[in-house]
Amino acid sequence: MRVAIVGAGPAGARLAHQLSKNGFEILLFDAREAWEKPCGGGVTSKALREFEFLRDGQTPKRMISSLRLITAQNRELTVAPRHDFAIYSRKELGRMMRQRAIDAGARLYCNRIEGAEFANGHWRIETAAGDFTADFLVGADGASSVTRRRVGVKFEPKDFAYALGWNVKTAESLSRVDVKYLDEFGGYLWLFPRTDHISYGIACGYQETTPARMKAELIDFIETQDCELASELKTASGNSTARASFYAAMIPSLDVSTWDQLRACDSKRTWALIGDAAGFVDPLTGEGIYYAIKSADLLAQAMINRVEDFDEMWRAEFGAEMRRAAQLQHRFYHGNFVGAPLTERMVQFAKRHRGVREVLRDLIAGDQGYVGLKTRLLQSAFSFT
Ligand SMILES: Cc1cc2nc3c(=O)[nH]c(=O)nc-3n(C[C@H](O)[C@H](O)[C@H](O)COP(=O)(O)OP(=O)(O)OC[C@H]3O[C@@H](n4cnc5c(N)ncnc54)[C@H](O)[C@@H]3O)c2cc1C
Repeated sequence: MRVAIVGAGPAGARLAHQLSKNGFEILLFDAREAWEKPCGGGVTSKALREFEFLRDGQTPKRMISSLRLITAQNRELTVAPRHDFAIYSRKELGRMMRQRAIDAGARLYCNRIEGAEFANGHWRIETAAGDFTADFLVGADGASSVTRRRVGVKFEPKDFAYALGWNVKTAESLSRVDVKYLDEFGGYLWLFPRTDHISYGIACGYQETTPARMKAELIDFIETQDCELASELKTASGNSTARASFYAAMIPSLDVSTWDQLRACDSKRTWALIGDAAGFVDPLTGEGIYYAIKSADLLAQAMINRVEDFDEMWRAEFGAEMRRAAQLQHRFYHGNFVGAPLTERMVQFAKRHRGVREVLRDLIAGDQGYVGLKTRLLQSAFSFT
């Protein structure tokens, strides 16, 4: 079977690798060479444990030894991850994953897909460099996927978060990640160190506030870390400066009702969606790299056996968790507990209780799911350890 995969990010490159190894003919398309996609690049312990190539490969990555949580009222909690936690440059990660796909036999074309038509059981795929045909079409083309729209899967503005920030060149070698919660809107800002730069970013619900407000909030945080950089950003004529390159991007953050209706595969019209194109991102934390790779593995398994099982497979593997995260999202960011915002109380509790601290640490590192979270939190809070 000839499969056309649109997008060679973590989802598309991984699927190309898995299917090529199993004898499929793979045409992998990406509009760009490997690039620094707007992303924190955080790869959780869960991802490192499950995908050996992320853990053991030679691709440069920054290993993290502490996670600092900061509340809107500047309460701080620092925890050490129980297992490895890594930060990748997306350019380096993309380069490595594409090479693995090519080595397994996939053909990579650096072409934007302009259109795709399904007729007589085949797909005709249009690029500026000419047309291609395929038996099966996979959309792995990210949050703003054109393939998703072409196959008729609709997301609404409520299904997205919006993020912006700066990648800042640095010679510093930090091994600490910062996450700060915000009081005005539901979301957080971060500092993620990479091998040669720091990714500063802020994310919240799409259209929940203005980009100008988000920038101001992020610059205030940067000022607490690097005054010189903050004043450079405040006085810059454009968004970027010589050492700080600006980015802005959408992140899928599906609503509960969208999770309920979502179909990521049609075996009759022979298409499927994976990764961000399918909305497979944790609505609470924004983690998407793991789910991009995991959904690629599940689709490969389904295509080798029974492709119509794909929807059932991703739902069973992580769909229920994601739906639960979507349910918790509003309460987590806007909820109050005993007269204070939940995030403030959470950090206060965690400072006093080792058990709660451990739950929080595991949640950030991807080791604690949302289904069962309440029970574990309650058990930890009342264990008085
Ligand atoms: C600001 C920000 C911070 C984030 N931080 C983290 C984090 O720290 N950890 C984490 O796990 N996740 C994070 N995420 C989410 C993560 O970036 C995504 O979930 C992940 O990249 C999804 O992989 P993907 O392969 O599905 O899509 P992408 O990585 O977006 O890849 C899609 C590819 O498709 C290509 N493409 C698009 N349209 C076309 C077309 N028409 N023709 C050909 N090619 C096309 C693009 O060039 C791109 O290379 C973050 C996201 C954002 C926006």
